[in-house]
Amino acid sequence: MEDYRKLEKIGEGTFGIVYKAEDSVTGQIVAMKKIKLGASEGIPATALREMDLLQGLKHPNIICLIDIVMDQYRLYLIFEYLSMDLKKYMDSMTPDTHIDKELVRRYLYQITNAIHYCHRNHVLHRDLKPQNILIDKKGVIKVADFGLGRSISPRSRVYTHEVVTLWYRAPEILLGSPYYAFSVDIWSIGCIFAEMSSRKPLFQGDSEINQLFHIFRILKTPTEDIWPGVTSLPDYKATFPCWSSYTLREQLKNISELGIDLLQKMLIYDPFHRFTARDILNHPYFDDFTSTTSE
Ligand code: AMP
Repeated sequence: MEDYRKLEKIGEGTFGIVYKAEDSVTGQIVAMKKIKLGASEGIPATALREMDLLQGLKHPNIICLIDIVMDQYRLYLIFEYLSMDLKKYMDSMTPDTHIDKELVRRYLYQITNAIHYCHRNHVLHRDLKPQNILIDKKGVIKVADFGLGRSISPRSRVYTHEVVTLWYRAPEILLGSPYYAFSVDIWSIGCIFAEMSSRKPLFQGDSEINQLFHIFRILKTPTEDIWPGVTSLPDYKATFPCWSSYTLREQLKNISELGIDLLQKMLIYDPFHRFTARDILNHPYFDDFTSTTSE
């Protein structure tokens, strides 16, 4: 590990502490994720997944894995360094101020662009949240933390229940759907879009059931009419309270009519009708938008 000099701790993720560090030879500043190796378990599955997926994903809006270093007790993943994550950025703003609308549009475009690329390559991120969106001073975004990522074939779908931080978790997962797919990432991006605009998480539940009720209160309790098959999902209960008004618009601040229209389509209950990443990029919200990043 003489190749890198640890400078300061910058964060803590699902499976390791992240440090700012310096490449001793080139002087390049990097982010170093330190993963402890258990005596019996070896390399944690999350670290293996992240290494495996990131080695195959190369995109200007996805964090670059520069190097992997291993000694007897630890594994270090070396990433390009970005100065902040979106959560720290929003937390650092004074109350009652908003992220500039144009910057929100730019951020949303880049996050979606990265996820469009992942989905085209059959990779689900499964843990999109502001902490995992890294930003720099020039307005560039890079999606990070692929520890819960998963590669799937276009026809297969995924089965694990415990994924995606609660506030950004799609309703089909919360209702115990045995299968889910790319649409879970779109739901998370929708929640991040609303949060960037209003500076407040849209659905702030503190348990799975409470999370569902937060969603139902704003988007109405789903019925077979708006989401065919919902009543057959394992955790659906006929006794759910019935919220019957759709109040999304009232929750939002600092967002244009086109932005609201787009968000509504990202938060469609029925995963088969929810917008895809490509639909988002083609929505009129981005009509006069010129992206500075390219694939
Ligand atoms: P992660 O384990 O990838 O979720 O990282 C945990 C936290 O460490 C993130 O929320 C960021 O604040 C920080 N972090 C992770 N990767 C980087 C990076 N490449 N550059 C700067 N900060 C990072």
